[in-house]
Amino acid sequence: MQNRIHIQEGDITAMEVDVIVNAANPSLLGGGGVDGAIHRAAGPALLAACKVVRQQQGECAPGHAVITEAGQLRAKAVIHTVGPIWRGGSDNEAQLLGDAYRNSLQLVSANGYRSVAFPAISTGIYGYPKAAAAQIAMDTVSDYLTRHPLPEQVYFVCYDEENARLYQRLLTQRF
Ligand code: ADP
Repeated sequence: MQNRIHIQEGDITAMEVDVIVNAANPSLLGGGGVDGAIHRAAGPALLAACKVVRQQQGECAPGHAVITEAGQLRAKAVIHTVGPIWRGGSDNEAQLLGDAYRNSLQLVSANGYRSVAFPAISTGIYGYPKAAAAQIAMDTVSDYLTRHPLPEQVYFVCYDEENARLYQRLLTQRF
């Protein structure tokens, strides 16, 4: 397991992995933060694919995930998941954040992909405290990997130094 979880600092759109996970909003039609970066790098084909999903399924609820093509990204697919908005911690945020990671991983496995990169879901505009969110991300992914052969490799992509430090500490503690 130790060699299946990695921490990478920088921009998720540069990752050479099968699947990039997007911290989307329920509309699936793009937004700021990592969502904006992914759509800019992927080009209009990604937005077109999101619009199709949106027409077929409606909005994507917090904790849920959908998969689309990846447009011009090097990845083969993008998984759009919606994290919870932080409202103080008593609004089921922890469960929903875990669901966002778990449901994304299930889509990776179900589609036979071997590697996936996650951003720190909900820790930007959605305001989830970074330490608590990192703990949930690490626990949920570790637990999933003990029970599933795919994905083989999971990358936590940390855009800011605080997240990089938090994730690194958790990974060191765990192994
Ligand atoms: P949310 O609405 O889920 O909080 P944000 O995009 O605002 O989503 O932030 C989620 C995390 O993604 C934050 O920790 C932010 O620093 C990070 N982030 C922003 N841009 C990028 C990027 N290009 N690559 C990786 N992570 C990014």
